[in-house]
Amino acid sequence: MGTDGTRESDIVLVGGGHAHVHLLKAFGEQPLAGSRVTLIARDLMTPYSGMLPGVVAGFYRFDEAHIDLAALAAATGTRLVHGEAVGLDREGKRVILASGLTVPYGLASIDVGIQPDLTSIEGAAQHGIAVKPIAAFLVKLERLRAAARAGTVRHVAAVGGGAAGVELMLAVRTRLVADVIADGRDPRSLAFTLITAEELLPTHHVRVRASFRRILAERRVALHEGRPAVAIAADHVRLGDGATIAADAVLITTRAAAPAWFASTGLALDRRGFLAVGPTLQVINDADVFAAGDCAELIETPREKSGVYAVRAGEPLAGNLRRRAHGQPPIPWWPQKRHLSLITTGERYVVASRGPLKAEGAWLWTLKDWIDRRWMRAYQVQASTR
Ligand SMILES: Cc1cc2nc3c(=O)[nH]c(=O)nc-3n(C[C@H](O)[C@H](O)[C@H](O)COP(=O)(O)OP(=O)(O)OC[C@H]3O[C@@H](n4cnc5c(N)ncnc54)[C@H](O)[C@@H]3O)c2cc1C
Repeated sequence: MGTDGTRESDIVLVGGGHAHVHLLKAFGEQPLAGSRVTLIARDLMTPYSGMLPGVVAGFYRFDEAHIDLAALAAATGTRLVHGEAVGLDREGKRVILASGLTVPYGLASIDVGIQPDLTSIEGAAQHGIAVKPIAAFLVKLERLRAAARAGTVRHVAAVGGGAAGVELMLAVRTRLVADVIADGRDPRSLAFTLITAEELLPTHHVRVRASFRRILAERRVALHEGRPAVAIAADHVRLGDGATIAADAVLITTRAAAPAWFASTGLALDRRGFLAVGPTLQVINDADVFAAGDCAELIETPREKSGVYAVRAGEPLAGNLRRRAHGQPPIPWWPQKRHLSLITTGERYVVASRGPLKAEGAWLWTLKDWIDRRWMRAYQVQASTR
């Protein structure tokens, strides 16, 4: 033990992301002898990404799609620090919090997700509705619903044509249309537009794209592909070709940015500022710092930023932290190249995509709902055993 009370086996988890909730459970079930596990969490209710569009559409309650980190920490014997990490003093081996407090670590692991990129589109920070952090987004969603009911918002646009953008646009549409119908108004008083710089769902097969082009058209969501948004104002979006699109609310789901505080840590970063990790999930220039989920870039096996990989990293991360704490060498993790994406359509209907394979139907919603609820139960059951 160091003079300041730091133990080599003091394991500090920064962020309650998908990989870290698995760690809490794993270390709770099989405690690490002689180690103290601490979780630093900015938000005490952490969202499960798979169910988020369902929350937005009104299919799930908030608590059904969020993990109560305080309850999970209590059930697993984890020390919880409610705070936001803003730096890492690697020489002094401390995590620095926004409050000015510091938390000493022997081994640290970072799973803090991404932040929205509000700098590449003029006016986005002022007029756009960023989807992350999710807690702030859900508050803004309620304001948007109230404005649509009051008739002060009539044109809703989303910028970003990846899976999150498409799901979110369709889920928001479902919710606003349901509100307007409940008020006895014509849902056609609302207009929806999806704007994307590339083609729709660029990482998916052409058949998946065709399904979503059809679904968007059926739901009267105007689609602008290959047309980057360059500026957002209070009542419109301006595109790169000079055209303007009426919009009094604009959701931003464009490419993610890395948390800005990473730059001051001296940790190895990739060219976009994400933590550069090797196959053992250790940052490549610091064996005592691990990282997983969207905030990390696997240098040897880059994968798209998705909840699926953040969840899958949980097990190897737990194993390697355990090995390091016991003085054993960590072992590499090689994530699979492809995964099944179950993309929701704003209704209880899903399009499944895996490489060239595509299927769709209401039965896939039933399957997805079962998978998601089962995943959540693993962490909520823990919490209820306090
Ligand atoms: C609308 C939408 C739908 C999506 N649907 C899917 C889907 O169906 N399937 C899928 O695989 N992916 C989906 N994604 C992507 C998915 O949300 C992310 O890939 C996933 O959340 C990444 O998990 P993570 O563990 O890296 O980070 P996160 O889930 O973002 O968790 C990070 C945690 O760290 C905390 N935190 C952040 N900063 C700090 C800090 N400085 N200090 C302390 N704590 C901090 C946050 O409060 C949060 O609890 C979707 C995304 C969106 C926006």
